[in-house]
Amino acid sequence: MKILFASSEAVPFAKTGGLADVSGALPRALARMGHEVTLILPKYHQINEKRFSLAREEVLLKVPIAQRTETAEVYSVKLAPNFQALLIRHDAYYNREQLYGTLNGDFEDNAERFIFFSRSILEAASALNLQPDVIQCNDWQTGLTPVYLKNSYRNVSTLKKTVSVFTIHNLGYQGLFWHYDMPMTNLGWELFSPQALEFYGKINFLKGGIVFSDAVTTVSRKYMEEIQTPEFGGGLEGVLRDRRQDLYGILNGVDYAEWSPEIDLFIKQKYGPADLPGKKECKADLQREFGLAGNEEIPLIGIISRLAEQKGFDLIAAIAEELMKLGIQIVVLGTGEEKYHLLFRKLKEEFPRQVGLKIAFDNGLAHKIEAGADMFLMPSRYEPCGLNQIYSLKYGTVPIVRATGGLDDTIHDFNPITGEGNGFKFVDYSAACLLETIKRALLVYRNQAAWKKLMIQGMSVDFSWERSARDYLQVYQETIDKKKRRAAAE
Ligand code: ADP
Repeated sequence: MKILFASSEAVPFAKTGGLADVSGALPRALARMGHEVTLILPKYHQINEKRFSLAREEVLLKVPIAQRTETAEVYSVKLAPNFQALLIRHDAYYNREQLYGTLNGDFEDNAERFIFFSRSILEAASALNLQPDVIQCNDWQTGLTPVYLKNSYRNVSTLKKTVSVFTIHNLGYQGLFWHYDMPMTNLGWELFSPQALEFYGKINFLKGGIVFSDAVTTVSRKYMEEIQTPEFGGGLEGVLRDRRQDLYGILNGVDYAEWSPEIDLFIKQKYGPADLPGKKECKADLQREFGLAGNEEIPLIGIISRLAEQKGFDLIAAIAEELMKLGIQIVVLGTGEEKYHLLFRKLKEEFPRQVGLKIAFDNGLAHKIEAGADMFLMPSRYEPCGLNQIYSLKYGTVPIVRATGGLDDTIHDFNPITGEGNGFKFVDYSAACLLETIKRALLVYRNQAAWKKLMIQGMSVDFSWERSARDYLQVYQETIDKKKRRAAAE
């Protein structure tokens, strides 16, 4: 099968969150299974030609934006057998340090940047004669690609057979823009309707992807169910329910070549389930790095996260002082909203030997925290899949999570009677429940044998990409078959 995988970020090129992990690993897994895969993304400032051995393709893409035509160069690199990446170069749009905006907010021309990207994906496919069987689009940044495929590009012969699959990684970001941006898309005003792109007077790119793609997927089964309800649907629950026949929930996998304590190059001492003392050294190293009291017995909780409302930090804020009184240590790595920077800065000032803090995006440190912490905290309000809790399992770092989305699908609450489970989980979004759950975890932590068993149970769970990639292939195939049946019936 020929698969074109379109994303606004992908490891190793550019990353702000889980989307990049998925976009780096899923196409690679599909290629390993023998499919011909092309990953396509914008060429941002940090995607240096030399560092990534990029070669310039001969084509020059011409993309209509309003009355103008914008041009883009295309760069390519072969990443593995059957697996290449294409980078769309348009410096005025993408040659910036950040992907979507600065601390002061989103870039003002994001509509234009991602209208251009969504359309250049199809232009590149046709200019390079890729003839994809499937285009998988991801999140709002590529939400207009399925819209173009069904409208402006429906008669392009090399794309006639192509189906589009649209994957929602986070419904909290919809790509909402005012209606004055509509002419920039060169889509007719008839598409500015409640059945298509219109959403409470604005253009909604994510909605475009949901309505016009041939199949919609999201990144866990639980989240697939949740987003069809008003609480989690972000106003799109009705649209999603309308598409429930073509809606699938496929849990993200993990790239264990990057996230395994046995081979991790960032951590002080490699370790595995049969060789746990190495983890103690990683803990001591982490305590040293953050100036925390160096004591192996103090339970250490790790947090690595975008500091955003979604992640449940208001619950932590409500119980911060009480948590400290429990005598634990906490290490936080994250960037995001200023109010959460302040929250953790203040806590660090008050409890310098108990709180470690780095306000930054730092992949190496993320690995060190996964390895050095005893527990990993994710009390999310909602969580489409969540990756860090799955990485944590592999590192023997016991997750404490709220039962939502992918957190609920992957973490099974420890049962003190049977000893089953791989973490700790609470249901109600309340500070009291969070505190009670942390206390429950601390009790088990004091029982070394029970804790070790819990760690090993987590470390032995396998979330490698192969299984998820097979599920995606099945969705692609079903979608292709449906399209063929429809065409035959017409
Ligand atoms: P989301 O996509 O909502 O941010 P996920 O849990 O799906 O959340 O994925 C987050 C990814 O980003 C993980 O790979 C995590 O390690 C990484 N990450 C988040 N914040 C940071 C940070 N400050 N430094 C390094 N890595 C981070």
